[in-house]
Amino acid sequence: MKSVIQFLIMLSIVSVQQLAAQFEQEPLPYAYDDLEPYIDARTMQIHYNKHHAGYISNLNKAVAQLDSSPESLEIIFKNIADFSDVVRNNAGGHYNHNLFWSVLTPIKGTKPSRFLTEAINDSFISMEMFKESFLRSATSHFGSGWVWLIVTSEKQLAITSTSNQDNPLMEDTSVKGIPIFGVDVWEHAYYLNYQNRRANYLNQLWNVINWEEVSRRFDKAVNE
Ligand code: MN
Repeated sequence: MKSVIQFLIMLSIVSVQQLAAQFEQEPLPYAYDDLEPYIDARTMQIHYNKHHAGYISNLNKAVAQLDSSPESLEIIFKNIADFSDVVRNNAGGHYNHNLFWSVLTPIKGTKPSRFLTEAINDSFISMEMFKESFLRSATSHFGSGWVWLIVTSEKQLAITSTSNQDNPLMEDTSVKGIPIFGVDVWEHAYYLNYQNRRANYLNQLWNVINWEEVSRRFDKAVNE
């Protein structure tokens, strides 16, 4: 009898979890002002609490209308043609910002792993040239979007950019791959501090890159 009750309790917990199986915002891994002066606290606060939170809330509203809820963002991206633009934009917005927060850190002097350093040298000749290419891609990207360092299906590093909240995991994106680093080049990411100077924002951002996290994502991507 006791085990039947336990089973029923377990069942009800599972169904509550399923009802609440909506997308949630993870806590920011540092304080709003931790990335100062490179990213100001007010930008972080608005970006995390308004923009990112807004994508999640709109995504949850949109998936609640569907016959069956997609299990993960990755499943949405893989089958992106089956979803509306509202799901596309907000699922992308959620994923992209999650990745962005994770590849930034107030910890000074994190370094890429030897494995990632070798791959960067193989693909871009040197770290300096990688940064130059990345900057060029960011400054030449017209309008809102993201610039990415990805691992392609051939396990090569490549730089690419996407518009709006698209990302390289979306099945219909021109250059596909697993993003291991990405920079938000929407004006909301830098306008308060840098106004229209996107290149300055990019140049300063290298001061707060979490190379350990990028290296971890690299290892995971090449082994997938
Ligand atoms: Mn953003």
